[in-house]
Amino acid sequence: MPKPPSRLRRIATALVQWIDADHCPEGRDKLLEKPDKVDWVRVIPFATLHFGCLGAIWVGWSPFAVVLAIALYFVRMFAVTGIYHRYFSHKTYSTSRVGQFFLALWGGTAVQRGPLWWAGHHRHHHRHSDDEHDAHSPVVHGFLWSHIGWITSKRNFPTDYSQIKDLTKYPELVFLNRFDLIVPLIFALGIYGLGAGLEAWAPGLGVTGPQLLIWGFFISTTALFHGTACINSMAHLMGKRRFKTDDDSRNSFILSIICLGEGWHNNHHRYQSSTRNGFYWWEIDPTYYGLKLLAWTGLIWGFKAVPQTVLEEGRRTDPPELKVERTRAAQSS
Ligand SMILES: [Zn+2]
Ligand SMILES: [Zn+2]
Repeated sequence: MPKPPSRLRRIATALVQWIDADHCPEGRDKLLEKPDKVDWVRVIPFATLHFGCLGAIWVGWSPFAVVLAIALYFVRMFAVTGIYHRYFSHKTYSTSRVGQFFLALWGGTAVQRGPLWWAGHHRHHHRHSDDEHDAHSPVVHGFLWSHIGWITSKRNFPTDYSQIKDLTKYPELVFLNRFDLIVPLIFALGIYGLGAGLEAWAPGLGVTGPQLLIWGFFISTTALFHGTACINSMAHLMGKRRFKTDDDSRNSFILSIICLGEGWHNNHHRYQSSTRNGFYWWEIDPTYYGLKLLAWTGLIWGFKAVPQTVLEEGRRTDPPELKVERTRAAQSS
Protein backbone atom coordinates (compact mmCIF):
# COMPACT_ATOMS: atom_id res chain seq x y z
CA MET A 1 0.00 0.00 0.00
CA PRO A 2 1.44 3.46 -0.90
CA LYS A 3 2.40 5.71 2.03
CA PRO A 4 0.01 8.67 2.60
CA PRO A 5 1.62 12.05 1.82
CA SER A 6 3.21 13.89 4.76
CA ARG A 7 1.49 16.91 6.32
CA LEU A 8 4.08 19.24 4.75
CA ARG A 9 3.48 17.70 1.35
CA ARG A 10 -0.29 18.08 1.76
CA ILE A 11 0.06 21.76 2.67
CA ALA A 12 2.40 22.34 -0.28
CA THR A 13 -0.11 20.65 -2.61
CA ALA A 14 -2.96 22.80 -1.28
CA LEU A 15 -0.92 25.98 -1.78
CA VAL A 16 -0.05 25.08 -5.36
CA GLN A 17 -3.71 24.16 -6.01
CA TRP A 18 -4.79 27.69 -5.17
CA ILE A 19 -2.70 28.86 -8.10
CA ASP A 20 -2.97 25.84 -10.40
CA ALA A 21 -6.36 24.15 -9.97
CA ASP A 22 -5.27 21.21 -12.16
CA HIS A 23 -2.33 20.35 -9.88
CA CYS A 24 -3.29 16.91 -8.66
CA PRO A 25 -0.28 14.77 -7.58
CA GLU A 26 -2.59 12.09 -6.20
CA GLY A 27 -4.32 11.79 -9.56
CA ARG A 28 -7.77 13.18 -10.36
CA ASP A 29 -9.46 9.78 -10.24
CA LYS A 30 -8.13 9.16 -6.73
CA LEU A 31 -9.64 12.44 -5.53
CA LEU A 32 -12.99 11.65 -7.16
CA GLU A 33 -13.10 8.42 -5.12
CA LYS A 34 -12.58 10.20 -1.77
CA PRO A 35 -15.46 10.26 0.71
CA ASP A 36 -17.56 13.38 1.31
CA LYS A 37 -15.66 15.19 4.03
CA VAL A 38 -14.84 18.81 4.86
CA ASP A 39 -11.23 19.54 3.92
CA TRP A 40 -10.25 22.33 6.32
CA VAL A 41 -7.58 23.68 3.99
CA ARG A 42 -10.31 24.34 1.41
CA VAL A 43 -12.33 26.18 4.03
CA ILE A 44 -9.66 28.90 4.28
CA PRO A 45 -10.77 30.87 1.16
CA PHE A 46 -14.40 30.84 2.39
CA ALA A 47 -13.39 31.89 5.88
CA THR A 48 -11.23 34.70 4.41
CA LEU A 49 -14.13 35.90 2.26
CA HIS A 50 -16.55 35.93 5.20
CA PHE A 51 -14.17 37.44 7.77
CA GLY A 52 -13.12 40.02 5.19
CA CYS A 53 -16.65 41.45 5.42
CA LEU A 54 -15.86 42.46 9.01
CA GLY A 55 -13.33 44.89 7.54
CA ALA A 56 -16.30 47.29 7.20
CA ILE A 57 -15.83 48.01 10.93
CA TRP A 58 -12.50 49.69 10.12
CA VAL A 59 -13.07 51.11 6.64
CA GLY A 60 -16.60 52.40 7.24
CA TRP A 61 -19.06 52.90 4.44
CA SER A 62 -20.18 55.41 1.85
CA PRO A 63 -23.28 55.49 -0.39
CA PHE A 64 -21.01 54.87 -3.38
CA ALA A 65 -19.49 51.75 -1.80
CA VAL A 66 -22.88 50.29 -0.87
CA VAL A 67 -24.39 50.97 -4.30
CA LEU A 68 -21.33 49.41 -5.97
CA ALA A 69 -21.63 46.30 -3.76
CA ILE A 70 -25.30 45.86 -4.75
CA ALA A 71 -24.60 46.55 -8.43
CA LEU A 72 -21.71 44.08 -8.51
CA TYR A 73 -23.91 41.48 -6.81
CA PHE A 74 -26.43 41.63 -9.65
CA VAL A 75 -23.93 42.05 -12.49
CA ARG A 76 -22.07 38.97 -11.24
CA MET A 77 -25.22 37.02 -10.39
CA PHE A 78 -26.00 37.46 -14.07
CA ALA A 79 -22.52 36.12 -14.82
CA VAL A 80 -23.35 32.99 -12.83
CA THR A 81 -26.89 32.47 -14.12
CA GLY A 82 -26.69 33.80 -17.67
CA ILE A 83 -23.13 32.70 -18.41
CA TYR A 84 -21.85 29.83 -16.21
CA HIS A 85 -25.28 28.22 -16.03
CA ARG A 86 -27.25 28.98 -19.19
CA TYR A 87 -24.25 29.09 -21.53
CA PHE A 88 -21.36 26.93 -20.29
CA SER A 89 -23.46 24.31 -18.49
CA HIS A 90 -26.42 24.02 -20.85
CA LYS A 91 -25.47 25.84 -24.08
CA THR A 92 -28.92 27.40 -24.30
CA TYR A 93 -27.63 30.02 -26.76
CA SER A 94 -24.68 30.57 -29.09
CA THR A 95 -21.82 33.04 -29.34
CA SER A 96 -18.52 33.43 -31.21
CA ARG A 97 -15.23 32.11 -29.85
CA VAL A 98 -14.18 35.63 -28.85
CA GLY A 99 -17.61 36.18 -27.32
CA GLN A 100 -17.24 32.92 -25.40
CA PHE A 101 -13.88 34.06 -23.99
CA PHE A 102 -15.36 37.40 -22.96
CA LEU A 103 -18.25 35.57 -21.24
CA ALA A 104 -15.75 33.32 -19.43
CA LEU A 105 -13.86 36.39 -18.14
CA TRP A 106 -17.12 37.94 -16.95
CA GLY A 107 -18.08 34.65 -15.28
CA GLY A 108 -14.70 34.51 -13.53
CA THR A 109 -15.44 37.76 -11.66
CA ALA A 110 -18.08 35.84 -9.66
CA VAL A 111 -15.22 34.05 -7.81
CA GLN A 112 -16.90 30.66 -8.21
CA ARG A 113 -13.92 28.95 -9.82
CA GLY A 114 -13.50 28.36 -13.53
CA PRO A 115 -16.23 27.87 -16.14
CA LEU A 116 -15.29 24.25 -16.82
CA TRP A 117 -15.28 23.24 -13.13
CA TRP A 118 -18.63 24.97 -12.66
CA ALA A 119 -20.23 23.45 -15.78
CA GLY A 120 -18.82 19.98 -15.08
CA HIS A 121 -20.30 19.89 -11.58
CA HIS A 122 -23.59 21.31 -12.74
CA ARG A 123 -24.02 18.78 -15.53
CA HIS A 124 -23.29 16.05 -12.99
CA HIS A 125 -26.02 17.54 -10.77
CA HIS A 126 -28.56 17.21 -13.58
CA ARG A 127 -27.53 13.64 -14.26
CA HIS A 128 -27.82 12.67 -10.59
CA SER A 129 -30.32 15.18 -9.17
CA ASP A 130 -31.13 14.20 -5.61
CA ASP A 131 -29.70 10.71 -5.87
CA GLU A 132 -26.80 9.56 -3.70
CA HIS A 133 -24.20 10.70 -6.28
CA ASP A 134 -25.50 14.28 -6.37
CA ALA A 135 -22.71 16.37 -4.80
CA HIS A 136 -25.10 18.95 -3.35
CA SER A 137 -28.52 17.44 -2.79
CA PRO A 138 -30.12 18.82 0.40
CA VAL A 139 -32.45 15.83 0.42
CA VAL A 140 -29.59 13.32 0.50
CA HIS A 141 -26.84 15.28 2.29
CA GLY A 142 -28.70 17.89 4.36
CA PHE A 143 -28.96 21.67 4.02
CA LEU A 144 -25.51 22.74 5.22
CA TRP A 145 -23.64 20.26 3.04
CA SER A 146 -25.65 21.19 -0.07
CA HIS A 147 -25.19 24.91 0.64
CA ILE A 148 -21.47 25.14 1.36
CA GLY A 149 -19.94 21.88 2.69
CA TRP A 150 -19.71 20.11 -0.67
CA ILE A 151 -17.38 22.72 -2.16
CA THR A 152 -14.81 22.13 0.59
CA SER A 153 -14.72 18.38 -0.05
CA LYS A 154 -11.57 17.06 -1.76
CA ARG A 155 -13.57 14.90 -4.14
CA ASN A 156 -15.34 17.96 -5.55
CA PHE A 157 -12.15 19.97 -6.07
CA PRO A 158 -10.87 18.71 -9.44
CA THR A 159 -12.49 19.56 -12.73
CA ASP A 160 -13.98 16.41 -14.19
CA TYR A 161 -13.02 17.03 -17.80
CA SER A 162 -14.98 13.99 -18.97
CA GLN A 163 -18.22 15.91 -18.35
CA ILE A 164 -17.32 18.87 -20.56
CA LYS A 165 -15.61 17.59 -23.70
CA ASP A 166 -17.38 20.24 -25.80
CA LEU A 167 -15.56 22.93 -23.78
CA THR A 168 -12.12 21.38 -23.33
CA LYS A 169 -11.35 21.84 -27.03
CA TYR A 170 -10.80 25.56 -26.32
CA PRO A 171 -7.34 26.01 -24.73
CA GLU A 172 -8.19 29.54 -23.60
CA LEU A 173 -11.07 28.16 -21.50
CA VAL A 174 -8.89 25.39 -20.08
CA PHE A 175 -6.30 28.05 -19.16
CA LEU A 176 -8.85 30.26 -17.36
CA ASN A 177 -10.20 27.20 -15.60
CA ARG A 178 -6.79 25.98 -14.53
CA PHE A 179 -5.61 29.35 -13.23
CA ASP A 180 -8.95 30.37 -11.83
CA LEU A 181 -7.47 32.86 -9.38
CA ILE A 182 -6.30 35.26 -12.10
CA VAL A 183 -9.64 36.89 -12.94
CA PRO A 184 -10.82 37.35 -9.32
CA LEU A 185 -7.41 38.79 -8.40
CA ILE A 186 -7.46 41.33 -11.22
CA PHE A 187 -11.08 42.12 -10.40
CA ALA A 188 -10.30 42.76 -6.71
CA LEU A 189 -7.26 44.90 -7.62
CA GLY A 190 -9.42 46.86 -10.07
CA ILE A 191 -11.97 47.62 -7.34
CA TYR A 192 -9.20 48.71 -4.97
CA GLY A 193 -7.71 50.88 -7.71
CA LEU A 194 -11.08 52.50 -8.41
CA GLY A 195 -11.45 53.28 -4.70
CA ALA A 196 -7.95 54.73 -4.47
CA GLY A 197 -8.59 56.80 -7.61
CA LEU A 198 -11.88 58.20 -6.29
CA GLU A 199 -10.20 59.02 -2.98
CA ALA A 200 -7.71 61.19 -4.87
CA TRP A 201 -9.97 62.66 -7.56
CA ALA A 202 -13.37 62.84 -5.86
CA PRO A 203 -12.77 63.09 -2.11
CA GLY A 204 -16.35 64.32 -1.64
CA LEU A 205 -17.58 60.75 -2.18
CA GLY A 206 -15.91 59.58 1.03
CA VAL A 207 -14.51 56.52 -0.75
CA THR A 208 -11.12 54.89 -0.12
CA GLY A 209 -9.36 51.94 -1.76
CA PRO A 210 -9.74 49.60 1.25
CA GLN A 211 -13.38 50.63 1.72
CA LEU A 212 -14.30 49.82 -1.87
CA LEU A 213 -12.38 46.53 -1.66
CA ILE A 214 -14.37 45.46 1.42
CA TRP A 215 -17.79 46.45 0.01
CA GLY A 216 -17.30 45.82 -3.72
CA PHE A 217 -15.35 42.59 -3.34
CA PHE A 218 -15.68 40.93 0.07
CA ILE A 219 -19.28 41.81 1.03
CA SER A 220 -20.66 41.63 -2.51
CA THR A 221 -18.90 38.31 -3.28
CA THR A 222 -19.97 36.71 0.01
CA ALA A 223 -23.60 37.67 -0.65
CA LEU A 224 -23.23 36.43 -4.22
CA PHE A 225 -21.92 33.10 -3.02
CA HIS A 226 -24.84 32.55 -0.64
CA GLY A 227 -27.38 33.73 -3.23
CA THR A 228 -26.02 31.21 -5.74
CA ALA A 229 -25.71 28.44 -3.14
CA CYS A 230 -29.42 28.86 -2.37
CA ILE A 231 -30.15 27.25 -5.73
CA ASN A 232 -28.25 24.14 -4.67
CA SER A 233 -29.85 24.03 -1.24
CA MET A 234 -33.15 25.95 -1.07
CA ALA A 235 -34.33 25.35 -4.66
CA HIS A 236 -34.64 21.65 -3.85
CA LEU A 237 -36.50 22.35 -0.59
CA MET A 238 -38.62 25.49 -0.88
CA GLY A 239 -41.41 26.23 -3.36
CA LYS A 240 -43.86 24.45 -5.61
CA ARG A 241 -43.41 21.51 -7.90
CA ARG A 242 -45.26 22.16 -11.15
CA PHE A 243 -43.60 19.30 -13.02
CA LYS A 244 -43.30 15.78 -11.76
CA THR A 245 -39.53 15.62 -12.28
CA ASP A 246 -37.38 12.79 -11.03
CA ASP A 247 -35.94 14.94 -8.21
CA ASP A 248 -37.11 17.43 -5.56
CA SER A 249 -36.54 20.63 -7.56
CA ARG A 250 -38.99 23.46 -6.87
CA ASN A 251 -40.20 26.78 -8.27
CA SER A 252 -39.80 29.78 -5.98
CA PHE A 253 -40.58 33.43 -6.75
CA ILE A 254 -38.37 34.63 -3.86
CA LEU A 255 -35.36 32.65 -5.11
CA SER A 256 -36.01 34.00 -8.60
CA ILE A 257 -35.61 37.55 -7.32
CA ILE A 258 -32.44 36.71 -5.36
CA CYS A 259 -30.99 34.68 -8.24
CA LEU A 260 -32.35 36.55 -11.26
CA GLY A 261 -34.78 33.90 -12.49
CA GLU A 262 -32.99 30.74 -11.40
CA GLY A 263 -35.65 30.16 -8.75
CA TRP A 264 -37.85 28.54 -11.42
CA HIS A 265 -35.74 25.50 -10.76
CA ASN A 266 -38.42 22.87 -11.18
CA ASN A 267 -39.13 24.29 -14.66
CA HIS A 268 -35.43 24.09 -15.38
CA HIS A 269 -35.13 20.48 -14.23
CA ARG A 270 -38.09 19.62 -16.46
CA TYR A 271 -36.46 21.22 -19.53
CA GLN A 272 -32.82 22.28 -19.22
CA SER A 273 -32.14 23.34 -22.79
CA SER A 274 -34.27 26.47 -22.96
CA THR A 275 -32.73 29.93 -22.56
CA ARG A 276 -35.49 30.97 -20.19
CA ASN A 277 -36.22 29.40 -16.83
CA GLY A 278 -39.43 31.37 -16.30
CA PHE A 279 -41.59 29.45 -18.75
CA TYR A 280 -44.62 31.79 -18.64
CA TRP A 281 -44.78 35.57 -18.88
CA TRP A 282 -45.68 35.95 -15.19
CA GLU A 283 -42.60 34.02 -14.10
CA ILE A 284 -40.07 36.84 -13.73
CA ASP A 285 -36.74 35.83 -15.25
CA PRO A 286 -34.30 38.79 -15.17
CA THR A 287 -31.46 36.63 -16.54
CA TYR A 288 -33.50 36.01 -19.67
CA TYR A 289 -34.23 39.73 -20.05
CA GLY A 290 -30.50 40.45 -19.65
CA LEU A 291 -29.64 37.85 -22.27
CA LYS A 292 -32.16 39.49 -24.64
CA LEU A 293 -30.30 42.78 -24.15
CA LEU A 294 -26.99 41.05 -24.92
CA ALA A 295 -28.54 39.52 -28.03
CA TRP A 296 -29.40 43.01 -29.29
CA THR A 297 -25.70 43.90 -29.14
CA GLY A 298 -24.94 40.93 -31.39
CA LEU A 299 -22.72 39.19 -28.80
CA ILE A 300 -25.04 36.17 -28.46
CA TRP A 301 -27.76 34.58 -30.55
CA GLY A 302 -29.65 31.35 -31.19
CA PHE A 303 -31.88 31.25 -28.11
CA LYS A 304 -33.58 27.93 -27.46
CA ALA A 305 -37.31 27.99 -26.71
CA VAL A 306 -39.41 25.88 -24.37
CA PRO A 307 -41.29 23.28 -26.47
CA GLN A 308 -45.07 23.74 -26.69
CA THR A 309 -45.61 20.26 -25.29
CA VAL A 310 -43.73 21.20 -22.10
CA LEU A 311 -45.67 24.47 -21.76
CA GLU A 312 -48.97 22.62 -22.13
CA GLU A 313 -47.87 19.97 -19.67
CA GLY A 314 -47.12 22.76 -17.18
CA ARG A 315 -50.53 24.34 -17.68
CA ARG A 316 -52.23 21.02 -17.01
CA THR A 317 -50.35 20.36 -13.77
CA ASP A 318 -50.29 23.87 -12.28
CA PRO A 319 -51.41 24.48 -9.59
CA PRO A 320 -49.79 21.27 -8.57
CA GLU A 321 -51.18 18.79 -6.20
CA LEU A 322 -47.87 17.12 -6.88
CA LYS A 323 -46.01 16.87 -3.65
CA VAL A 324 -43.74 14.18 -4.89
CA GLU A 325 -41.64 12.80 -2.12
CA ARG A 326 -39.74 10.51 -4.42
CA THR A 327 -36.44 10.57 -2.65
CA ARG A 328 -37.87 10.19 0.83
CA ALA A 329 -40.04 7.35 -0.40
CA ALA A 330 -36.96 5.73 -1.91
CA GLN A 331 -35.07 6.21 1.33
CA SER A 332 -37.79 4.65 3.45
CA SER A 333 -38.21 1.65 1.14
ZN1 LIG B 1 -31.12 21.37 -9.16
ZN1 LIG C 1 -28.97 23.59 -14.81
